[in-house]
Amino acid sequence: MEPAFLETHVAARPIRELGLRLAGTPLEPVLERYLGELERAGFRLRPRFYLSTEWGVAFGTIAIAIPFYLARPELAAIHVARTGMVEGAEPHDLLRYLRHEMGHVFNYAYKLYERPEWVRAFGAITQPYVEEYRPQPFSRRFVRHLPGWYAQKHPDEDWAETFAVWSTPGHDWRAEYADRPHALAKLALCDRLMDEARTAEPLVHDDGRDEEVGTIDTSLDELYRTEELAADDVPGLDGALGNIFVPRPPPPSGRDAAPLVRALEPSLCTEVYRWTGHFPERTRALMRRLGNRVHELGLGFEAPDEPRVTVALTALITALAMSHVAHGRYLP
Ligand SMILES: [Zn+2]
Repeated sequence: MEPAFLETHVAARPIRELGLRLAGTPLEPVLERYLGELERAGFRLRPRFYLSTEWGVAFGTIAIAIPFYLARPELAAIHVARTGMVEGAEPHDLLRYLRHEMGHVFNYAYKLYERPEWVRAFGAITQPYVEEYRPQPFSRRFVRHLPGWYAQKHPDEDWAETFAVWSTPGHDWRAEYADRPHALAKLALCDRLMDEARTAEPLVHDDGRDEEVGTIDTSLDELYRTEELAADDVPGLDGALGNIFVPRPPPPSGRDAAPLVRALEPSLCTEVYRWTGHFPERTRALMRRLGNRVHELGLGFEAPDEPRVTVALTALITALAMSHVAHGRYLP
């Protein structure tokens, strides 16, 4: 079967009919490895794992939801093509997400968020959960673990990121954060609370699942249609593109700009999010728009110029992303 036909076929079916399960997937040995990591750290608490639409732990439970697309490489490929980024592609990256989610599990299992010292360090867990958070890149008050300055999203995420940094094997958090007293104090609190958790019985055992993959009626087409964002209006970009590219030079060294823009999309979506907090689906929409525009304008570059135009385009996208994170729009 043609890959395109296969994708259309898979993407149109309800997700629950795709027969997705954890058993037998490449995820399984990584989850085993993580359980071993918890055991070696002396914890008696064990999370449950299940497949759902995205990473998460439902409040008040000890069950970790893992994105279903990680169960099969072809679904991960569809996901990256439609959203711009995969969270947890390689075992190393998967463990980063598991350590973050396990922070939520500890928080709920021992109701740490009710402790006055937790609230003083991280804030009230009842604070509204703002999806469109606007991080301050390189803030010294927070640890850094997942991309997008994720600790700045909410007190619960701040805790989960702190736990993830604290629990990463072989990582010397005292040395790394020695010059950042706010972040270091959070890590030290985590160290105390986790020391208690080694000997205490969990208060919560609920492993209820939220949106388990076998219950999802929507198809991939429907799921990604609702998640796809339109690019904000960015007038005046023709001038910027004209600065980076030239009218397509003739062969043999002349290249079209549009395929280059397309080829840079996955890594730019991921890396721009990592360092700015600008969501990958927004970068993707912005790059699709730029790709269409360079095509319409007939822009290109000389082959030896590819490193320069790649850097120039990356700098332009990063500047637009920073502006959006700081002000909620690309242009003043
Ligand atoms: Zn989280």
